[in-house]
Amino acid sequence: MALRPKILVAEDEERIVGFISAVLTANGYDVITAGSGKETRSMLASHCPDLVLLDLGLPDMDGMDIIRSTREWTQLPIVVVTARDGERDKVAALDAGADDYITKPFGTHELLARIRTALRHARGSASSDALSASGIFTAGRLTIDYNKRWVLVDGENVHLTQNEYKIVSLLGLHAGKVLTYDYILKSIWGPSASGDNQVLRVHMANIRRKIERSPAEPEFIFTEVGVGYRIVEGDN
Ligand code: CA
Repeated sequence: MALRPKILVAEDEERIVGFISAVLTANGYDVITAGSGKETRSMLASHCPDLVLLDLGLPDMDGMDIIRSTREWTQLPIVVVTARDGERDKVAALDAGADDYITKPFGTHELLARIRTALRHARGSASSDALSASGIFTAGRLTIDYNKRWVLVDGENVHLTQNEYKIVSLLGLHAGKVLTYDYILKSIWGPSASGDNQVLRVHMANIRRKIERSPAEPEFIFTEVGVGYRIVEGDN
């Protein structure tokens, strides 16, 4: 990757393009822009960006089609930008091959965090990067010890059940990134797992009781409404 990662901002609203460009440029990224789906496709091919920030609502093409056609030839990270209540769009975009999403309106911190995470995962170090050489993931007071299969808060083992541990450790391997309910269910219970999120919700409620100070206001594992769960980024 170049010293300054190159981000393609595919967005048709001038105001948002201006905001994103200013933030990214000030934070060490090079920015190129495209205002339509057609332009996005040609910029992807001709400018080889390190990541594309893709507005799902471009005027001339369906965002899902852009994701699918892009995935036919490149694995570059795609972070989609969606409207506030577009849960179904978010899931569809992730299923089509997007790496993550960000919901309008969004702040600077969130934008930068999503981009950082997607670029890091793209470097092929999704698991090794989140974990130290000793197989330990830390995020503030939270530690996942992959050797002992323990989850610790403030250094104390919180004694998760096997399934609870599997959920937390899976999220930890993809720290900072949203994992869909379906992805989590299939990863843990196999490809034929039913899409019943209720099971997952019950497990998550138990996990939160064990690891969060206030389960209603989690600081480690966040619910992405209608989509899935995301664990905080690791410390390193
Ligand atoms: Ca738009």
